[in-house]
Amino acid sequence: MDKKKLIDEIKQTYLLKRIRAEEACEEFIQNLRNDKYFDNIYTDYNIKQLEYMKSKYEIENLKLKKDILELQKKIDSYLKTNHINKENLVPKYDCPICKDTGMDGNKICSCVKKELNKRLSILTSSQNNFHSFSDCNEKLMNETDKKTTEKLKIWCKNYPNVSKLNINIIGGAGSGKTFLLEAIANEFINNGYVVCFKTMFELNELARLYHIGKSYEFSDCLKADILLIDDLGTEPILNNVTKEYLYNVINTRQIHKLPTVISSNLSPDDILTRYDERIFSRLSNKNICLNILLDSPDKRLMENKK
Ligand SMILES: [Zn+2]
Repeated sequence: MDKKKLIDEIKQTYLLKRIRAEEACEEFIQNLRNDKYFDNIYTDYNIKQLEYMKSKYEIENLKLKKDILELQKKIDSYLKTNHINKENLVPKYDCPICKDTGMDGNKICSCVKKELNKRLSILTSSQNNFHSFSDCNEKLMNETDKKTTEKLKIWCKNYPNVSKLNINIIGGAGSGKTFLLEAIANEFINNGYVVCFKTMFELNELARLYHIGKSYEFSDCLKADILLIDDLGTEPILNNVTKEYLYNVINTRQIHKLPTVISSNLSPDDILTRYDERIFSRLSNKNICLNILLDSPDKRLMENKK
């Protein structure tokens, strides 16, 4: 994917956003100026501001400052009497840092980077409408569920300052594995990271396409800030592909200290049998993996609010 093209697209939307905000504000002020009294003080206020900007003399500056303050008070009291929110007199920009210009000085503003990561995450994930931790229905959760959710929330909040880089969420169908995976993805997107969310079935297919040279999308999974693999064990085992690429992805990410979160209904023994020793040892390494066991197989942990 072309990062530069994405940035240009974002800047274009920002420009439109900025124009819209400024036009809306301008229109609001024009309406107020239909009132002669307001028009007069507001005109004076603008003239004084301009003079203040141009003036080079300290004494003149002080006098102008005083006048501006007086006029400001008059404007404020006019607005108050007429029950008008003061904030309507300035454009409502989404980003207070760059005022929707996308630039913070001569650097790209952090809001653009966040938006860019969000768009990259949408491109690299098989879905983009993730549940969040706030969708949890506490009434349906027992104490263990609550503790688990809290543990994962804290892990997301503390990342990258976490002791365990990877998470394995193990549980049966309907135990809430996918929900928790989505909630983690959602937290990371909101924190400005590039997220790659794939089912193991999809990852397996990407690996196959990569293997035969038909698509290189698989490499996105290696590079994403966080990779979430849903339902390990539901994919068909393809010769020279499944085990090899799964090991490759887990190992490469581990070397580069990039987190991988996996959900599965396979027990550690099942993983050893289905894959191999190398994958098993990577996934069961307690020094780097946080293991979450959802031991309530046939219960919906979280209510689907979508
Ligand atoms: Zn900004």
